[in-house]
Amino acid sequence: MFENLSDKLQRSFKHLRGQGTISDENIGEALQEIRLALLESDVNLTVVDELVSHIRAKAMGTQVTTALSPSEQIVKIVHDELVNLLGKDTAKFKTASQPPSVILMAGLQGSGKTTTSGKLGQWLKKSGHRPMLVSVDVYRPAARQQLAIVAKSIGANIYEGDLKGETANSDLVLRLAREARREAANFGCDILIVDTAGRNQIDSTLMDEMAQLKKLLNPSEILFVADAMTGQDAVKSAKSFHDLLALTGVVLTKMDGDARGGAALSIRHVTGAPIKFLGTGEKPDAFEAFHPDRIVSRIMGMGDIATLLERAEEKLDRGKAEQFAKKALSGDGFSLDDFRDQLRQIKKMGSMKSILKMLPSVGPFAGMAQAAENVDEKQFGRVESIINSMTNKERQDHEIISGSRRKRIARGSGTTVQDVNNLLRQYAQMRKMFKTMGGGGGIKAQQRMMS
Ligand code: GDP
Repeated sequence: MFENLSDKLQRSFKHLRGQGTISDENIGEALQEIRLALLESDVNLTVVDELVSHIRAKAMGTQVTTALSPSEQIVKIVHDELVNLLGKDTAKFKTASQPPSVILMAGLQGSGKTTTSGKLGQWLKKSGHRPMLVSVDVYRPAARQQLAIVAKSIGANIYEGDLKGETANSDLVLRLAREARREAANFGCDILIVDTAGRNQIDSTLMDEMAQLKKLLNPSEILFVADAMTGQDAVKSAKSFHDLLALTGVVLTKMDGDARGGAALSIRHVTGAPIKFLGTGEKPDAFEAFHPDRIVSRIMGMGDIATLLERAEEKLDRGKAEQFAKKALSGDGFSLDDFRDQLRQIKKMGSMKSILKMLPSVGPFAGMAQAAENVDEKQFGRVESIINSMTNKERQDHEIISGSRRKRIARGSGTTVQDVNNLLRQYAQMRKMFKTMGGGGGIKAQQRMMS
């Protein structure tokens, strides 16, 4: 999502490499490039100007004081300033002292409000809460239906109410909200997520209704859901909603797309409301808490190992991983069954693309994030179907797979004999490599692999 900005910043830092000190002259060019990089990433102009002047002031002030090279100094200053811009800490999620706490979801139609209500429900469930969902969009039965489906898919409670024969207007919206809160309390739900009606653009009826809902429900969180792909428009509508409702936070959706990232960098500055979550896909678990420092590290090409580890911690079965490592490094090596198991584990962490993109673009993983662009996600599926088409015996001992069986396996898995051959060759190489690492090769073999 921030590839462009990241690439451009790296390029501007290169200019400073090899220069002894930071001077007005050499920093001028770098700052100009940083400015362009930010503007091209769709960061708001006022934000850019402020940021660049801060960076300049800091850079000039730190001149000969540290052991860092000028380019390293600038990288650090830009990093710190971006973190400042986004807010230093991860925003806390507020709840009311008297349950149920209400979370009011605001945003324009299509921004991802309903999807996000579900994602948030799931996130809260995982953190030990008992959420109830309600859609007060009495104007669009399809929207209410969509939330019911989402609630079902995450196993959360939903209040649907009885709207038969009722006229769709603000009174009905408020009645439904009141009933839902009562129902949540009766059901022992500690959080009520209220999905509201969205419009294509901000209009006074919508805003009026939102203000009335706020007054009635006294929500502990008012989250604005913004589509990151809409760039500066998202920033503008966030500001309108903030002026009226005093938002407690923002959720930026569709961060998995090719949004240039400018919205993320501007929204906090323009509204003062912190970004609390990111939506990174259509599925309920494509959702993460927003950590400013991690996002900035991603932007600066320093990777986001923290998120990657968290994801691994949550999704991977540690016992299985250890078992695999032990087997792989042992004299017998690992079977194709074990290999398939590992693939399935990795797949649970998300797409290969999203995993590779979190690796730092410098150091031992250099090039991986760029390689992500060329990853063929279907390859995982193909490998799995090839292994599925083998017999148990073949999976335990790949050497018994004859030419005619390879043909049969290719047909069974909808692939070609060449695909089957490639897989078997790669598997054999990997097995050998692991064995050398575990056995006689030891550390030396590992070092060979890393170099
Ligand atoms: P609403 O009108 O604001 O309630 O928007 P919806 O929740 O119906 O979402 C609109 C579209 O955006 C749907 O097709 C969603 O699947 C999609 N969507 C929502 N969040 C994300 C996200 O984080 N990433 C991607 N790729 N799509 C999303």
